[in-house]
Amino acid sequence: MTTAGVDAVLLSVGHDLPYFTGYEAMPLERITMLVLAPTGIPTLVVPELEVPRVKADTAFQVRGWGEMEDSVGILVDLVGEAQTVAVGDQCWAGFVLELQQRLRGTFWQSATPLTLPMRMRKTADEVAALRATADSADRVAARLAMEPFAGREADLSVWIEAALREEGNEGLSFQAIVASGPNAASPHHHGGGRVMAAGDTVVCDFGGRMNGYCSDTTRTFIVGEPSPEAAAAHAVLLAAQQAAVAAVRPGVTAESIDRVAREIIDGAGYGQFFIHRTGHGIGLDVHEHPYIVEGNDLVLESGMAFSIEPGIYVSGEFGMRIEDIVVVTDEGVENLNQSPRDLISV
Ligand code: ZN
Ligand code: ZN
Ligand code: ZN
Repeated sequence: MTTAGVDAVLLSVGHDLPYFTGYEAMPLERITMLVLAPTGIPTLVVPELEVPRVKADTAFQVRGWGEMEDSVGILVDLVGEAQTVAVGDQCWAGFVLELQQRLRGTFWQSATPLTLPMRMRKTADEVAALRATADSADRVAARLAMEPFAGREADLSVWIEAALREEGNEGLSFQAIVASGPNAASPHHHGGGRVMAAGDTVVCDFGGRMNGYCSDTTRTFIVGEPSPEAAAAHAVLLAAQQAAVAAVRPGVTAESIDRVAREIIDGAGYGQFFIHRTGHGIGLDVHEHPYIVEGNDLVLESGMAFSIEPGIYVSGEFGMRIEDIVVVTDEGVENLNQSPRDLISV
């Protein structure tokens, strides 16, 4: 904070807060805010009724506020004379606007430049948490390959979510995606009433949460036998995904990994069907820095964790994606997902 010329940091809902305090705020209309002010120890301002959920910690004090109190006034007092205030990216605009009105003359900036360098490089404990939930997702993928893909997408999505909990996750990192046939051409399709049928490619993208950390893996299944077109596209996709994983090591840029996958897919003539970046960072958030995308010249370092998930989406026909979570190691890369990546016949 001193180096950055920041006098106070405010962190609200979102995952900066649990990263530093172990407490995850409910995204309520009531204010929750960790205040790191120029003097004194950090203060976690939380609604009184939430105080029992905060684990005591010597690193910060807790200030519960009652329903009749002026919660913004508490923050104004804590921030005091701060000239420059950095606020986390995830904080309701309503609170920020009210604070800005009551702290006239204060300069506001994002807290992300301060929190990002810490959150992006995972500690050994964080990598262990990512590994544990990735293992659970692999177990779900193995069980999924044994399931009949005969009913509605939505029902298989519910099955996957239950399996993630059975395999030890405390929750989901996002609603499980099951996208079949032409629906698979929409990367974030939410499973609906479509009944899966012979010849469909089915994209299953899912992840759980263990100790707060997220998993996120995608496998593409085929009901019965693939068409020659689908089989050919999947072979290209697998080659691109594996080459991108193999290219990960410290010292190369994020965009160079995207290029490895894209050049293979482009080279085989599918370039126009690969319509998203190659990957995203993962940790307490399922999507966080670093983003594996053209234009991101961030140099990868040991401890960074992200997805490698190229896809090929042919509108009206089929879609496919293969996604693993990888961690940059001192020597190269550790792939946290190990379930089979071929076009799995179900
Ligand atoms: Zn996604
Ligand atoms: Zn995913
Ligand atoms: Zn992902």
